[in-house]
Amino acid sequence: MNLTPNPKVRIDLISDTATKPSAGMRAAMAAAEVGDEQRGEDPTVNSLCYEVAGLLGKEAAVFLPSGTMCNEIALAVHCRPGEEVIMDATGHPIHFEGGGPSALAGVMVHSIQGNRGVFQANQVERAVRPIHRHSPQSALVWVEQTVNLGGGHCWRLGEIDEVVEVARQYGLAAHMDGARLFNAVIATGTSASSFSTGFDSVWIDLTKGLGAPVGAVLAGNMEFIDSAWRLKQRWGGAMRQAGVIAAAGLYALNHNIERLGEDHIAAKLFAEIVASHPYVELDPDTVETNIVIFEISHPEFDASTFAESLLAQYGVRVSVVGPKTIRAVTHLDVSNEAVRVAAQALVDLLTNQVK
Ligand SMILES: *Cc1c(COP(=O)(O)O)cnc(C)c1O
Repeated sequence: MNLTPNPKVRIDLISDTATKPSAGMRAAMAAAEVGDEQRGEDPTVNSLCYEVAGLLGKEAAVFLPSGTMCNEIALAVHCRPGEEVIMDATGHPIHFEGGGPSALAGVMVHSIQGNRGVFQANQVERAVRPIHRHSPQSALVWVEQTVNLGGGHCWRLGEIDEVVEVARQYGLAAHMDGARLFNAVIATGTSASSFSTGFDSVWIDLTKGLGAPVGAVLAGNMEFIDSAWRLKQRWGGAMRQAGVIAAAGLYALNHNIERLGEDHIAAKLFAEIVASHPYVELDPDTVETNIVIFEISHPEFDASTFAESLLAQYGVRVSVVGPKTIRAVTHLDVSNEAVRVAAQALVDLLTNQVK
């Protein structure tokens, strides 16, 4: 684990979490009115929660330190230990939350195989357990918008409506991990509240493409938010003068949503350049938002070694998400020109190394 900024990084496509607060955002943070968040007395946090609840069409919302905490709290509110959540095999809680679903909520994850993370209603129907003393009981259906390990793939509204409908039919709760919901909003033209309306809980991350330094906001009805607050307190997520960071979130909502479209154009550009190399398995038409995932099938290709060389020789940082799979993410701190340079560096290194 690197504990200091890596001086070799010139163009950082490791994640859209690499974004740093802009001058305007820092000014908003400095000017924020604050109070005790734990007591519900921070006016800036309250504004942020009010704003996000409105955008997502929910009664209430709670400000949390991270998207991971939003997911883990939602799991624990919706499910009792031993119950099951139905989720695509690419789901963030399966891969990146330190085993939280089992350690914190005590839930079973029933993973299903969607198309780049998007599954169909009939797959949910087949996954729902019978009411039987031998079976874990199904409690929750989980949708990730956009699908991170699905290459930023967007659920379409029709697909979401059908899945939510099946959840209702079987009496299951429904949760949306909307870490990059606004990327889907910009890519599809569907509003955030249309996507989220059928879900019992939904959250957005402020620290991905929106560019804030800390925080995520989880929304739902009053009863859900009350329960979420108890877990926030129990797990040590309550804060004090958090208006300083909530102000960054409000600034992000007001300034950085529309511009996500620029990241999508940059990702497409990146994909088109990279896909021109014969060993790269990638159809640029599948790149809908700001994430590009591709495989290099050559037998001698090793993604980790390649990513290290790309950083050492060209100062370009990407992430490794499989033995032969690379992920690159565009965001507000990389220009189109930098993205073009990075893609060309990747192609050059492939040409030199993989023969
Ligand atoms: C980043 C991410 C999370 C976790 O959010 P953090 O704020 O990093 O804790 C959860 N789900 C998805 C899909 C993500 O991309």
